[in-house]
Amino acid sequence: MPLVAGNWKMNLGPTEARDFAASMLSDLVTVRGVEIVLCPPAISLPAVHAVLSGTNIKLGAQNMYYEEKGAFTGEISPTMLQGLCDYVIVGHSERRTYFGETDDLVNRKALAAFEHDIRPIVCVGEHLEDRDANRTERVITSQVYGSLKGLPNARLDELVVAYEPVWAIGTGRAATPSDAADVAGLIRALLVELYGAVEAATVRVLYGGSVTTANAGSFAAIPDIDGSLVGGASLKPDFTEIARQTLRAKNA
Ligand code: PEP
Repeated sequence: MPLVAGNWKMNLGPTEARDFAASMLSDLVTVRGVEIVLCPPAISLPAVHAVLSGTNIKLGAQNMYYEEKGAFTGEISPTMLQGLCDYVIVGHSERRTYFGETDDLVNRKALAAFEHDIRPIVCVGEHLEDRDANRTERVITSQVYGSLKGLPNARLDELVVAYEPVWAIGTGRAATPSDAADVAGLIRALLVELYGAVEAATVRVLYGGSVTTANAGSFAAIPDIDGSLVGGASLKPDFTEIARQTLRAKNA
């Protein structure tokens, strides 16, 4: 099933998040045939969980550490998220850029997510200077190999990979559908090398980076792209429309 996830980033504390989720819910639940995931900040997860309970809308965290407990001040563990969240975003470019997350750390987090029955949404994407120097393929290849190695073969249908070119995130400058299609195809080919064709076909690959109601349908129309990871537009009613356009494009 296609998937549309909304990354609220560091916006909306518990009360605001609860009210915002509640305000979207009646419209959001009418979009059937697309898996919809809301990813509020960690402190707001329980409040949004309460709003979503009993609906088909899923909950995701924006980050977690890989250890279960202990002296890791400020971190949230997979055991704390287990049962609360269906998904967790790992390796978002803002985590990689501002908090120094490496492929190895992202890989440990993805493995820990599987161990705790939380589906990882693993983000990869090149910086503008990589793209300008024609290094996109090299960067994506190394991120995919580094972040996605050793995952349980038989459960790859639980894995989501988000291709998010860093230069497109929050800039209003989305990739062209044709560039996104090329990189999504590359990611799929790398997954085939890592896990074999049958398993690779079950992984969902998203595009993220300035997705709006104006372009969501063109990304979703690409066969190798299974939906989108939406930042800014997920904080607006547009998010429901993006999910609807994704459904329409996939059914066309
Ligand atoms: C994101 O936060 O993952 C993202 C893609 O942001 P935006 O849609 O605002 O570019």
